[in-house]
Amino acid sequence: MYCSSECRQAAADQYHQALCLGQSQEDPDHPVNKLKDAWRSMHYPPETSSIMLMARMVATVKQAQDKCCWQKLFFQFCSRAANEEEEIAHKLLGEKFQGHLTLLQALFTTALYDDHLDMWFTPEGFRSLFALVGTNGQGIGTSSLSQWVHACDALELSSQQREQLDSFIDQLYKDIEKETGDFLNCEGSGLFLLQSSCNHSCIPKAEASFPNNNFLLHLSALSDISPGEEICISYLDCCQRDRSCHSRQKILRENYLFVCSCPKCVSQMDELDLTSSEEGDDMEEEITDV
Ligand SMILES: [Zn+2]
Ligand SMILES: [Zn+2]
Repeated sequence: MYCSSECRQAAADQYHQALCLGQSQEDPDHPVNKLKDAWRSMHYPPETSSIMLMARMVATVKQAQDKCCWQKLFFQFCSRAANEEEEIAHKLLGEKFQGHLTLLQALFTTALYDDHLDMWFTPEGFRSLFALVGTNGQGIGTSSLSQWVHACDALELSSQQREQLDSFIDQLYKDIEKETGDFLNCEGSGLFLLQSSCNHSCIPKAEASFPNNNFLLHLSALSDISPGEEICISYLDCCQRDRSCHSRQKILRENYLFVCSCPKCVSQMDELDLTSSEEGDDMEEEITDV
């Protein structure tokens, strides 16, 4: 699970000691496993990592010498009004699991309760934590295996060695697929303070990626940025960004609870006002493409 012994040590020092199941790793009755199972029954990867991200936050504070420092850091992430938190929590749980927040809170409390963090274990506090991760959590997708396979392609090998290596790789993919289904890449989620303070724009100035195949987030400029200019990222993927103003607004409103007023949306809304008799996405596309 770790890329190096340094990484494993860093995890142990920061949170793993408080979360380590040791011999109980496989024990389905261990409170941490019960929590994971409950969450997994509601979510498919990569969202499966969200509940453990919350657990790591608790574990980090538990283990820390300077607990206030970590708490302050977590409070710097964007927080929401109570009614918005409710909405985000519902969104994160999905239609089918609306009533499950209470169950998760109970399991979370049993597994991880700590006096220093009692505010995260109340119904309101747990909902806040849930919304914090839901709003600020950044999906991390890396594919170390595919990089390795690419590197293998570049090797100079005899045809016999090449054949052996290729069949080894084929078998490896088959074996992995049996276990992972469609989720071949390493997927997880993390909290990045600087990146999460970037606002959204439908014409983003920068984009996040994980080129080192680890948790290190790179924010790269997509075009020149003038001094003092706000660096916006896009919460929409590139296909969503190509959609009409109307459908972009719908996605942002439903998932992120705001109305986008980026230059692109503003100019497209103006155009829409001028041609208010025409409705529907197709029409909008035509209008905005002019
Ligand atoms: Zn351990
Ligand atoms: Zn916009």
